Amino acid sequence: MTDRTDQLRDLARASLRRIGAAVPSGTGLAARTPITGAELFALRASTAGEVTRAVGEAAEAFRAWRTTPAPVRGELVRTLGDLLRAHRADLADLITIEVGKIRSEALGEVQEMIDICDFAVGLSRQLYGRTIASERPGHRLAETWHPLGVVGVISAFNFPAAVWSWNTAIALVCGDAVVWKPSELTPLVSIATSHLLDRAIARTGAPAGLHRLLLAGREAGETLVGDPRVDLVSATGSTRMGREVGPRVAARFGRVLLELGGNNAAVVAPSADLDLALRGIVFAAAGTAGQRCTTLRRLIVHRDVADQLVERLAAVYGRLPVGDPFDDGTLVGPLITEAAADTMAAALDRAQAEGGKLVAGGRRTGGPGAYAEPAIVRMPRQTAIVREETFAPILYVLTYDTFDEAVALHNDVPHGLSSSIFTRDQQEAERFLAADGSDCGIANVNIGTSGAEIGGAFGGEKATGGGRESGSDAWRAYMRRATNTVNYSSTLSLAQNVSFLT
Ligand code: NAD
Repeated sequence: MTDRTDQLRDLARASLRRIGAAVPSGTGLAARTPITGAELFALRASTAGEVTRAVGEAAEAFRAWRTTPAPVRGELVRTLGDLLRAHRADLADLITIEVGKIRSEALGEVQEMIDICDFAVGLSRQLYGRTIASERPGHRLAETWHPLGVVGVISAFNFPAAVWSWNTAIALVCGDAVVWKPSELTPLVSIATSHLLDRAIARTGAPAGLHRLLLAGREAGETLVGDPRVDLVSATGSTRMGREVGPRVAARFGRVLLELGGNNAAVVAPSADLDLALRGIVFAAAGTAGQRCTTLRRLIVHRDVADQLVERLAAVYGRLPVGDPFDDGTLVGPLITEAAADTMAAALDRAQAEGGKLVAGGRRTGGPGAYAEPAIVRMPRQTAIVREETFAPILYVLTYDTFDEAVALHNDVPHGLSSSIFTRDQQEAERFLAADGSDCGIANVNIGTSGAEIGGAFGGEKATGGGRESGSDAWRAYMRRATNTVNYSSTLSLAQNVSFLT
């Protein structure tokens, strides 16, 4: 395995070299690979002083950037997109090395970054405000969107580059500067990505301090969160993290955008196309080794089709290739750490203690590296463990008799991120999407819970935090709105017919 670790270290070095990025060697942080579980590089962590300095530099750069015309700001993001296209394979290698994603998913993550850059470039000419009918003659009422300031981006390990790009591409065209605190588990991807943006900044002549990278653990995130010069904290990660970050930002009247955990479910109705459902379910539940915020964790199946569907799922799970994500044919890579595999094993024990029956997978395979077979557990009801997010490939199966029962089970968890229904009954599909249907930020029909496109707004309700990022009008979170009343008459008329000094 040392050989394999050496190979991966060489591959990482070669990718970083082609990108042009240097690894700051030192102490305080380690770059590791879940493929063998070994350390690749010892890195120098950012100090508290560097965090403070980074925010100051970003605030300084913002002062120049906010008056740069938005379409000119778009040129920076276009250049970043070009560099991402040129280094797609290099970045995907680093994602596979550091997160363990299979090749196709790692390439998909980089594609998502390119897509959001394209979206943001278009957006740079479409930061529209409304013109509103004024109630007073000779008056114009309008709204203008202005750049907000410094955006602190805190991101999770499982989408080490895409989440940054959702925030950064949009923030930059909106006229903001960004300070990024990535996951301590993915420093190499962060160094590479950040360097590509530095190259784009240098090439376009944008202010150098527009983007700052902090390589450090949670403490750096805490410093960032507490800094009053950070106007928006966009934090992606666990609900535990959001519970700490949200109130701290609110206490200083900062803005917060929270993208937290999910406990996503799919309803499978008796009319469902089971072939289609099967593929949708397996990708959503076992893909990315169950380490997506939108991973399918609960399957709510009509009693009439439950046995048949579970049997077919168990057969597919029995053949899922688990292993080195660089190997052709592997569909399930490693879990991020040994601790994650322990958490998975503990959850399976609890599920069985709560009356569940393990019908597929769940065993550790291979190693070194935390490899585990994705698991399916049939549950007698929605017990405590089912209502929790365990960040591992465990699919709990519940059965239902009536549609109302399915929706009630579906919504009876703390999180509200992603959901789907497999049905050929249009009435049922529409009821699932209606106001009293799924309570999630994402609700799908005949497709799984994961793998969103960048064009829609992404995020969820309840313990998922309520934030929206990426497409649609999510850009508004990165700008401040000014309402303008312009009186172009010669009289001063007051709103609501108020009379004063007449
Ligand atoms: P995590 O909460 O452990 O860490 C996320 C980030 O927050 C890291 O950069 C970490 O250093 C930082 N952090 C932790 N505590 C902090 C604090 N008190 N103050 C400031 N920063 C702090 O999450 P993780 O294990 O890296 O990622 C998995 C979790 O992220 C899952 O719950 C998953 O559902 C969620 N996630 C959500 C989305 C989404 O868009 N909703 C996307 C990806 C992942």
